[in-house]
Amino acid sequence: MSQTRHNWTKQEILDIYNKPLMELLYEAATIHRKNHDPNVVQVSTLLSIKTGGCSEDCGYCPQAARYHTNIEGNDLMTVQQVKAQALRAKSTGSSRVCMGAAWRNVKDGEEFDQVLEMVRTINKLDMEVCCTLGMITENQAQRLAEAGLYAYNHNLDSSEEYYKEVISTRGYQDRLDTIDNVRKTNVTVCSGGIIGMGENVEDRAGMLVALSTLNPQPESTPINALVAVEGTPLEDQKPVSIWEMIRMVATTRIVMPETQVRLSAGRTQMTREGQAMCFFAGANSIFAGDKLLTTPNPDVNEDMEMFKMLGLNPQKPFTKKVQPQTVEAAESQFEALGEKPKWTRPEHTIERNEAAKTKAKLVKN
Ligand code: SF4
Repeated sequence: MSQTRHNWTKQEILDIYNKPLMELLYEAATIHRKNHDPNVVQVSTLLSIKTGGCSEDCGYCPQAARYHTNIEGNDLMTVQQVKAQALRAKSTGSSRVCMGAAWRNVKDGEEFDQVLEMVRTINKLDMEVCCTLGMITENQAQRLAEAGLYAYNHNLDSSEEYYKEVISTRGYQDRLDTIDNVRKTNVTVCSGGIIGMGENVEDRAGMLVALSTLNPQPESTPINALVAVEGTPLEDQKPVSIWEMIRMVATTRIVMPETQVRLSAGRTQMTREGQAMCFFAGANSIFAGDKLLTTPNPDVNEDMEMFKMLGLNPQKPFTKKVQPQTVEAAESQFEALGEKPKWTRPEHTIERNEAAKTKAKLVKN
């Protein structure tokens, strides 16, 4: 095992990111092998349990109600629908189901109770359960933990500086506070970000400083390449090159040696050779299924073909940590507190977000 450091500086991370590629790959692959089985890749299925109509203004997201995109929204899925999808995911090699709801933050009430029941149901299928539901309080994190949640996802998205260029309706500190609330439970933390939003290399390093200096570091870190969706403020961003993705994955692997680094959005734009390089550089998790919330993703059969060709095996559930126990709702020690936390709304002006909103109004009228 490599020793995990929590004091990385931006300059150190930039020096790693900018190394000659062969040296970077060699170092990352060496660290990867010391900490993980290089032939095992964790497979997660991302399920959008409530799509669209979100109040936030995240510049990359087609689910923000204020932009005009072609996504089909849906209300919260039923527990039975989610169970059926989870069983399907299990039969095609996924060990984890990640449920995403387009919410700013969790609100106590019927819908959250329904999500808790989904968590109980999937944990009983012996699959790892992850949720990404927006900001949560400590009490809500405890209730999720008690239901059997394995991981909570809350991405930092970018560096603190560049975050302000993408989102105006919530603050970076709220994200760190949510991660902190999850850390007060036995639920693992999944947090990463997106490259290709117009940020520079310093911002990418800045995001890795924020993630790697968390103690403990997140157990999993998704690295997404922006999928520029028409109608969003970032619709004109050019796709990142595979070399940038490889460098980002390798750098993440070096500064976060024990973390599962997940190749997330943007895989449809990558060749198999490119993905193989990412696995060599330390990626050891993917999202499977033909959709990633609302954006396209490779077909699961194609992924399994790729695994076969590369000699990779899907990771078994609960390899890294034991399965949590599920406590039934009737026996819960935690009641809904009906809290109304004051999550921030910086509301500064981001020109391109404003322009996309105005364009959407014109289209809708
Ligand atoms: S990323 Fe999440 S919070 Fe932001 S607009 Fe999309 S669904 Fe809402």
